Amino acid sequence: MIKGKIKTVSSFTIGTDGFFIDVQFNQLGLVPSTLKGAMRTAISWAIRNGMVRGTSCDEIEPSRIAKAHGGKPCDVCSLFGYPDHEGKLRVSSGPNKDGMTKPPTHVVTHVSIDDEKGTAKERALFKQEVVPPEEEFPFTVQVIGEEEDLCLALASLHYLRFLRLGRGGMIDVNVDKVVRNGKEVETGRVPLDLKWVW
Ligand SMILES: [Zn+2]
Repeated sequence: MIKGKIKTVSSFTIGTDGFFIDVQFNQLGLVPSTLKGAMRTAISWAIRNGMVRGTSCDEIEPSRIAKAHGGKPCDVCSLFGYPDHEGKLRVSSGPNKDGMTKPPTHVVTHVSIDDEKGTAKERALFKQEVVPPEEEFPFTVQVIGEEEDLCLALASLHYLRFLRLGRGGMIDVNVDKVVRNGKEVETGRVPLDLKWVW
């Protein structure tokens, strides 16, 4: 089990059409399935770029996943699950330190700029809801598997910092506690930054 916090570093835009990952805030705060999806994207990216040893089919289209695996699921899918297979990882989140689940937000009004003329477009004001920096979201990740599964889960949290969530939001991650078979694991031995970095 991994317990930790995610913190917004930049203002965090709430939206449903994120560039990489869809991070949508609602009354539940940081939605567990969204965090899980972001962790999956992060670890796939890290494996693809040779930063973490492991296999990733990089498939998101359910109908193509079985074909990509050719009988043996990749490490990412066996941890996170794939169609008709549950996976070994459960994510839960919240509440924040004040007992609230939905973070405080600002509404920011932007002006759309006409790229050709370099001036504001007429009638092109738009509003975005943003979470301010330094907002913390507690989470728990339960891993039902071997030590390598736990390490892959920790690596996916570590690499979350290098992706942009929502529309360009930067986050940091702090792992407070790792417990395996009822015993706290000494995380100093894990070659990853598990405390606040940014
Ligand atoms: Zn796979």
